[in-house]
Amino acid sequence: MFADFFLNSTLSGVFAKFFPDTFTVALARRIRAITMSFSSLVQDLSFRDANDERRPPRAPLSTSSTIDDRRSHVSRAMSYASTSATSVSISGDISSQLHGGYSHPLARSWQAERQLTKSMLIYPLFVSDQDDEESIIPSLPDQHRRGINKLVPHLEPLIRKGLKSVILFGVPLAPGSKDALGTSADDPKGPVMAAIRLLRQRFPQLFITVDVCLCEYTSHGHCGILRDDGSLNNQLSVDRISDVAVAYAQAGAHCVAPSDMNDGRIRAIKLKLIEEGIAHRVVLMSYAAKFSGCLYGPFRDAAGSVPSFGDRKCYQLPHGGRGLARRAMHRDIAEGADIIMVKPAGQYLDIISDAKEIGKDMPVAAYQVSGEFAMIHAAAKAGVFDLKAMAFESTEGILRAGATIVVSYFTPRFLDWLES
Ligand SMILES: [Zn+2]
Repeated sequence: MFADFFLNSTLSGVFAKFFPDTFTVALARRIRAITMSFSSLVQDLSFRDANDERRPPRAPLSTSSTIDDRRSHVSRAMSYASTSATSVSISGDISSQLHGGYSHPLARSWQAERQLTKSMLIYPLFVSDQDDEESIIPSLPDQHRRGINKLVPHLEPLIRKGLKSVILFGVPLAPGSKDALGTSADDPKGPVMAAIRLLRQRFPQLFITVDVCLCEYTSHGHCGILRDDGSLNNQLSVDRISDVAVAYAQAGAHCVAPSDMNDGRIRAIKLKLIEEGIAHRVVLMSYAAKFSGCLYGPFRDAAGSVPSFGDRKCYQLPHGGRGLARRAMHRDIAEGADIIMVKPAGQYLDIISDAKEIGKDMPVAAYQVSGEFAMIHAAAKAGVFDLKAMAFESTEGILRAGATIVVSYFTPRFLDWLES
């Protein structure tokens, strides 16, 4: 109503200003009456159309037949008044007007259910048994394999910037360090055990997660102990992997994260943590929905965990297995997982969304894996997009899908980017 009054008053006022004699003032009043009734008609029509979606779209009403000659400026104003957008807002149906809600950068950030923070990020670290090693991983941009002596200097500045959490992957490189049982996985002098103790001592506030698997430590590169026919012996694998998890927890890990995908390993680990009397202080994060695929190549280069034969399709999930992933997540929650993880992330946002629904009472993690990270770098280098912009867009997409924790090689960069 205010808009009508303002429009009509303005039109008649402008008319009277240019034609101040008595006749034109009278004419102006007449025009005002006509435009008011016309505006009411527009309201009525638009209100009716808004409530009848079956009607074909109406062309904007022309005003040329309502007033003839000497009124081109009035006609233009009335034509504006009768556009569908204006008439819709005048009629009171204002739900179509969204732009105001995200016109400011801060208001845009408020549109997200979860906003990226430093405490959501877990930074993967590859710890080798070569104490002084610090070598770049060619297929994984900006990422290194580091020996125990290089960890503290690398992490100190990151912790000052707000790094909260790391996940450790052991990389045994010494000749003879791998065997069929993955014996070196929990070697007290091995790189992961040593790194846990060192980081706990030097950075008491740093949350230390340790990946639990055998593939870095087995001579065949598979994620468990094999039968003679090359398939996984699930029972022996679970026994061994749960022992390794307990060893990491006893060494001081805050969180153990089995990534092997053997059936029943979450229950076995939880029971052994209870038996050892340490279940109350250890988070059990399950790689519950870990899919097989071609996005792990750079990681396997970094960790030296390429299978010497075959592949992992019989224990990691098939690409299309959404229902299977849901069953795996239900199972791992029932077996005692404190956090469930989806891996990879970007190609599996629907699975993350499922994880949020299935694990609605627990944190959901997602791992933006090495292949995703390398693709983003390659595309940025090729000029497809800006690296920082895509780092945020891809990570915020993972959060939008439902994750509350992101394992990310971008973590060091985000510590800077989130500062500004
Ligand atoms: Zn593995």
